[in-house]
Amino acid sequence: MRRNRITFNKLLIGRIQVSFGFIGLISLLWYSVSSTSPSASTTNQRIIPIELIDQKQDSTNNHLPQKSQEKRFRDQRYTVVEGDTLEAIFKRKQLSINELYEIIEADEPYLELDVLQPGDQLIFRIEREDNRLEALSRIVDPSKTVTYQYNNDDFIYQEELTPTDKIAEVTRGQIDGSFYVSASSSGLTDNGVMTITQLLKSSLNFRRDLRAGDHFQVIMEQETVEGKTIGKDRLLAARVLSRGKEFGAYLHSDGSYYNAKGESLVPVLLRYPTKKKYRISSHFNPRRVHPVTGRVKPHNGVDFAMPTGTPILSTGHGRVTRVASHRYAGKYIDIDEFGPYSTRFLHLSKILVKKGQQVERGQVIALSGNTGRSTGPHLHYELHIKGRPVNPMTADIPMLKSIPNSEIKDFHLYVADMRDLMLSEEKVVYLDEQTTDKHKQETHQYNSAKSSKEPPVISSSAS
Ligand SMILES: [Zn+2]
Repeated sequence: MRRNRITFNKLLIGRIQVSFGFIGLISLLWYSVSSTSPSASTTNQRIIPIELIDQKQDSTNNHLPQKSQEKRFRDQRYTVVEGDTLEAIFKRKQLSINELYEIIEADEPYLELDVLQPGDQLIFRIEREDNRLEALSRIVDPSKTVTYQYNNDDFIYQEELTPTDKIAEVTRGQIDGSFYVSASSSGLTDNGVMTITQLLKSSLNFRRDLRAGDHFQVIMEQETVEGKTIGKDRLLAARVLSRGKEFGAYLHSDGSYYNAKGESLVPVLLRYPTKKKYRISSHFNPRRVHPVTGRVKPHNGVDFAMPTGTPILSTGHGRVTRVASHRYAGKYIDIDEFGPYSTRFLHLSKILVKKGQQVERGQVIALSGNTGRSTGPHLHYELHIKGRPVNPMTADIPMLKSIPNSEIKDFHLYVADMRDLMLSEEKVVYLDEQTTDKHKQETHQYNSAKSSKEPPVISSSAS
């Protein structure tokens, strides 16, 4: 892994200094695949509820020849227009209100149908004979379609994922005006600009430090389906070169960003969305079985029992992407956090932020409540990584990293060595196995491995 990474870095530098050859592209693509974080590797898995598998084997529908299927159902594509609600669309199609409520209930763990945007594509599969809804699909993006499929008086959630290809895109430019204007006019996406600004803002003051003519170089990963980008991108690497200094951010295989020295640049996330830790009344459980129906109904978050009116905190730096009210989820908020993270807060009594608003970690965004279908005052909190719900209590999240006391002495020796080197007259310094990388990799082994008690070996040659 490390060797691969070094190869990539060398090629990257060569590419930026000379020209971007075919080998560079291949290694970048290869790198982007090999650097996928563990959490990301699960994102291509299909989540199929147990019932669905049974249904596929048992449903009489599937044994019907294609022609009688076509005769029995008609598929209607519907493009959402301004002001549309699911209720209004159901009314227009003369579908029953009970089916609407069943769909809304089935959608509660996912909220894929709750907020419709103009241009969204829906597909209704309706039984011709009695105008009964057999299935409702939404094309979320070219790589993902979700379907609520009728099965035994219930609608079962399914998703169809088209594998995406990943390409690396290089953007280079010079500062002319603000960083935002310069980067945007070079073709960088808003997500790219915002990610870079957030990562580098602690070391670089974008308003005061940049001068006209300063350079920046950015590599973004883009997801494509059939050669077309689908609007999902992430930063692989970026650097701003200003007055002989590099301000860089590089995506490591752990999914976090570091400067060239290997120092973490990612803002931390809070584990708990409240000041005080409240009792967990219901745990995260993607395979929870409903006590009454016996069906799998995922619990995609964690419930904290707390009195109505408890201040709810944003767990990260992010942007409010949804402020809404749902029949079952109650008043709720979605926040797109920095990096691959997003969060969701349900059953609120009062929402204190607006859609589009930037929020800071620890900022009070709402008051907890008991709205929607709720058995008592509590907060339902969800954490998603790359769009997938994960257990917020155990998920690998960016935390404040500090070196433990048992290792700090070794670290100080290492820093002293580095400073000596910086002040020495040597021009060429051979680092043993990429000193910074090695150091970073071995810090967590210090307790078990005796040989690694010493700082990484630095061999220098005064040539
Ligand atoms: Zn819950």
